[in-house]
Amino acid sequence: MKSYRVAIRGGQVRALARGVLLRSCLGGPLGLTPGIVMADKPIILSGMQPTGGLHIGNYLGALKQWATLVREDQHDALFCIVDAHAITIPYEPEKMPGLVLDAATSYIAAGIDPDQCTIFLQSDVPEHMELAWYLSAVTALGDLHRMTQFKEKSDQHKENVNAGLFTYPVLQAADILIYKANLVPVGDDQKQHLELAREIARRFNTRFTNVFPEPQAKLSRTPRIMGLDGKSKMSKSKGNTIGLLDAPKTIEKRLKSAFTDEKKLRLGDPGRPEVCNVFTMHTALSPTDQIDTIRADCQSGALGCGDCKKALSTVMLAELEPIRARADELNGNPKRVLEVLKDGGARARKRAQATMADVHTAMGLTTDHRGYSSRS
Ligand code: SF4
Repeated sequence: MKSYRVAIRGGQVRALARGVLLRSCLGGPLGLTPGIVMADKPIILSGMQPTGGLHIGNYLGALKQWATLVREDQHDALFCIVDAHAITIPYEPEKMPGLVLDAATSYIAAGIDPDQCTIFLQSDVPEHMELAWYLSAVTALGDLHRMTQFKEKSDQHKENVNAGLFTYPVLQAADILIYKANLVPVGDDQKQHLELAREIARRFNTRFTNVFPEPQAKLSRTPRIMGLDGKSKMSKSKGNTIGLLDAPKTIEKRLKSAFTDEKKLRLGDPGRPEVCNVFTMHTALSPTDQIDTIRADCQSGALGCGDCKKALSTVMLAELEPIRARADELNGNPKRVLEVLKDGGARARKRAQATMADVHTAMGLTTDHRGYSSRS
């Protein structure tokens, strides 16, 4: 049985618990009054689209950090697979269930322990979409027009520039705010969306009542991993990735082709590690003393790119080997992964419903018939 503490402060009951909707000694669900239920640890939320075959950029930029955060046990963590976001770009519906299963498998295989956090599927919690609608009423059109990702994705998918692509950041804000998240691990390309989520929270709180904390960004140690072509962010659609579960031989081969510092043409040429994506990956995977040596030897010209890539290959394979082994094990028991999603979805939904009660009350979208009222 989960233990919890309840403290009375300033006439309000604060229930301090983890991931559970508590009932007060007065008999009512504590989550139904704005600002009453609080987790005992900062709430952290992040998510990823089930686009198929997560890659080393996803791992170094997000999954590795998430796994560490869960291990440290300092946060009440929720990790979402954002399938409702994935439908804003062309996709094949019959493949989506398999992609979701792959993503959940990769989350767990990467070390995100489902017993220590909540892993769930966005569409299992329809309240995200409901909240997005309400939040759209406090979101300025001009703010959405300024989002660079909308411009990039509209260029990328000219044949399908849909409204969902445009309002994507509002749904993203709902994903975060519905759990009253305090921290959001993001890559630097998502900072603009997070800033908008903060703005939306402020506007809602000002227009109605204080329901949402303003979430802070938590950048990972390697927020931006470029693709092997060195031209753009690593992305499956660009074919410039190393798959998280690729075979060792494939990883070695792919790494050999990685773009480095264009001014370093041969051994002896001084290099610029600060502009080299291979070095960025070293900073995420190699021991600190080795990183310092690589930096110095690259700058002096003593290290050639071939050897540098071989060293990266060694540390990368060592890092990914246990992940691949765990993924093989889970692929042999997909029921286990589906159970994680089912359980995570149920727990996430309870929490989302408690927030929606706060939202309905704040916005006056209820009467006494639901057991909570904007007039109480
Ligand atoms: S030696 Fe390493 S860090 Fe330097 S440019 Fe070549 S690959 Fe990049």
